[in-house]
Amino acid sequence: MKRIQCGQLVPGCTFKAQAETDEDVLLMEARHAREAHGIEVTPRFIDRAKTRITEVNPEGQQARG
Ligand SMILES: [Zn+2]
Repeated sequence: MKRIQCGQLVPGCTFKAQAETDEDVLLMEARHAREAHGIEVTPRFIDRAKTRITEVNPEGQQARG
């Protein structure tokens, strides 16, 4: 699972996007940035966003067997 926190790109924002792939999480962040912040989503913005992606594990799930 991938996660991006918008606050790392736009200080003060609490939006978080989570998705299975880097690509999906970037798409979600790009859409949010445009709609919520009026940011023009440039390749440069995407590059910055890419560096903020973190890997997360699903919570509360334990491997069995
Ligand atoms: Zn935001």
